[in-house]
Amino acid sequence: MSKILKIHKLEKTYTSGSKKLTVLNDISFEVEKGNTFSIVGPSGSGKTTLLGLCAGLDRPDSGAIELCGTPLQDLNEDQLAQLRNKEVGFIFQNFQLLPTLNALENVSVPLELQGAKNATKVAMELLDKVGLADRAHHYPSQLSGGEQQRVALARAFSNRPSILFADEPTGNLDEETGEKVVKLLFELNQEAGTTLVIVTHDLELANRTQQILRLKGGKIIMNETTAVS
Ligand code: ADP
Repeated sequence: MSKILKIHKLEKTYTSGSKKLTVLNDISFEVEKGNTFSIVGPSGSGKTTLLGLCAGLDRPDSGAIELCGTPLQDLNEDQLAQLRNKEVGFIFQNFQLLPTLNALENVSVPLELQGAKNATKVAMELLDKVGLADRAHHYPSQLSGGEQQRVALARAFSNRPSILFADEPTGNLDEETGEKVVKLLFELNQEAGTTLVIVTHDLELANRTQQILRLKGGKIIMNETTAVS
């Protein structure tokens, strides 16, 4: 099997005023293409920071990230954005939908910006896939948290990414609604072969993924293959 993500000796430090805070220290791991992978650990352990670095949303201070066969340190910002548009989907805990666009536009506009010709049609098919075709013209404020997260999922999947990063995708949802979103994520993995990298505090969800990376204080304290694989 090939590796879709290779992380080697990552370090990340945030500076606030005169204080320096090392949030990731000597992080190395790999993710197999097509696998499901979770990152767990206490609040403040560096999970979100790590996810952002892996997805090319931010840069490490040192170390190497290879995403879909491309070393990210070799790319300038434009090239990095191109790689993200082509290969990466990202789901945020707080959905991050644009409030002035309806559900359909939240999915179709990014597609249009990437040059897709049939963006509205594709967006509608994706909303249908996540069970929200009848909410297409509703604005985020008119949608429940679970519905907003499903729109966010449709948007994250609109470019058919090879790898989907999800930061606490069920964090703001009740159990039943969270399960709907998780089921959709695993369906994408099964049907489209999309690699999933999920940050979660939900150990039950983590145990449904094939590999679990546990962070504490910015370091890896466990990297194990689960019974699922
Ligand atoms: P987790 O996702 O595990 O809760 P984070 O990656 O969000 O952890 O944060 C790790 C640490 O880095 C925390 O102490 C947090 O306060 C700090 N941190 C996160 N983002 C920033 C930032 N932009 N500037 C300064 N400190 C930050």
